[in-house]
Amino acid sequence: METFDWIVIGNGLAGAALSYELARLGLSVLLVDDGNPNSATRCSYGGIAHWSGTNAITRELCQAGIERHRQLSDELGATTEFRELDLLLTLPPDVDGASLTEQYGRFAIAPRLISPQEAQDIEPQLNINAIGGAFTVKHGHVNPVKTIDGFNQAFRRLGGQQMLTAVTGLVRIKDRVTGIMTATQAYAADNVVVAAGGYSRTLLRQTGLSVPLYHTHAEVVTLPQVDQPLRALIMPGVATRFEAEATASDPATDGLWDGPYREISPPILDAGMIQFLDGSTYIGQVSRFRTDLGAETIDAAQSEASIRQGIMPLVPCLANVPGQWRHCLVTFSRDGLPLIGPLPGVEGLHLFAGFTSPFAMLLPIAQRFASWVQGGQQNGSDSLLGQMLITRFSNSPNNPPPR
Ligand SMILES: Cc1cc2nc3c(=O)[nH]c(=O)nc-3n(C[C@H](O)[C@H](O)[C@H](O)COP(=O)(O)OP(=O)(O)OC[C@H]3O[C@@H](n4cnc5c(N)ncnc54)[C@H](O)[C@@H]3O)c2cc1C
Repeated sequence: METFDWIVIGNGLAGAALSYELARLGLSVLLVDDGNPNSATRCSYGGIAHWSGTNAITRELCQAGIERHRQLSDELGATTEFRELDLLLTLPPDVDGASLTEQYGRFAIAPRLISPQEAQDIEPQLNINAIGGAFTVKHGHVNPVKTIDGFNQAFRRLGGQQMLTAVTGLVRIKDRVTGIMTATQAYAADNVVVAAGGYSRTLLRQTGLSVPLYHTHAEVVTLPQVDQPLRALIMPGVATRFEAEATASDPATDGLWDGPYREISPPILDAGMIQFLDGSTYIGQVSRFRTDLGAETIDAAQSEASIRQGIMPLVPCLANVPGQWRHCLVTFSRDGLPLIGPLPGVEGLHLFAGFTSPFAMLLPIAQRFASWVQGGQQNGSDSLLGQMLITRFSNSPNNPPPR
């Protein structure tokens, strides 16, 4: 049986980019994905918030990320449909935008406050009566599906192997992981990296490991054909998501994520939308903080109705366009940085998940991660990656280090 240098589990943005970077270094890599059409990446808007760095680490990553996106289609030999467009962060009529200026001023490139009329000049489909103003900034954008496809094609050209099947478990011999199991056979590798997004925590738990990763159930409606052109990416200017994520990832509630089904905090609606170059348009999004993985307990019709209700006042022309409700899991960590690197106490097993703003920051992290592991994983040899290691949460009394 062939022993790969690396097996990468998950072909979302994280696994697609990382498998490519590992193959680019001449390593033998097997990329395995279960083919779920509703991965977070496949449901994503694909916005690149390269302006949103708030500290030295995120500013550096955002800058490196946008530079990479600008030349990625040429590098991969396949278009990612990269472009730069206007982001409109809309404010409800009763919100005084000036009171938020300081908050927006902390970003590397501060979005500027504009009037409802100026917002409509940018996006003619926007209903000015539904907003009190907006913040705007130039945003990057790619087609997420084409970006993954581009990475996969380049990966295979480099000799990488891709397989469509679910990983049912990890092969663990004492304190070493030596490969993966699928329904039909096992595959061996010197290293396995879990890049399975919102499924990563559960997959690792099956091997007796606990990691502080959390997820939302995210719901969008995809409208395959919209005749009216939309120019801007629209998102709410007053976001409740970060507060809700902080509640859901509180160390005090960490254990609930490994127990029976619980709703950790109430659902939120971020009314947003993006149109892709082919006219297809995504409207969203509901996020639910539930510990289960499936969509069985979610009322799809009600969810679609609430998404449509959220966007109807903003962009009335989209309200009745037929579409398909979709559900996916989006993973996040407790501090906004991903959880990457070797799992302490288990040789040969790594994690690469929990990204916030992955379209802005993940590509340089994948590149650095690949160089770092090829160089022998000397902790500290990449001080930036050193701050994303799983071990940073190990000292929390409520969150014991991974077993
Ligand atoms: C509506 C919406 C809009 C968004 N907009 C943006 C945006 O504008 N900008 C931005 O940066 N981010 C955005 N995000 C977030 C972003 O899309 C995700 O954080 C990112 O795509 C996650 O990538 P991932 O590779 O970690 O996970 P995923 O894309 O979920 O990939 C994980 C993969 O692993 C596979 N997998 C899981 N378990 C197994 C198994 N046992 N065996 C084999 N395969 C397995 C899954 O099927 C999946 O293909 C958005 C998300 C949503 C839902």
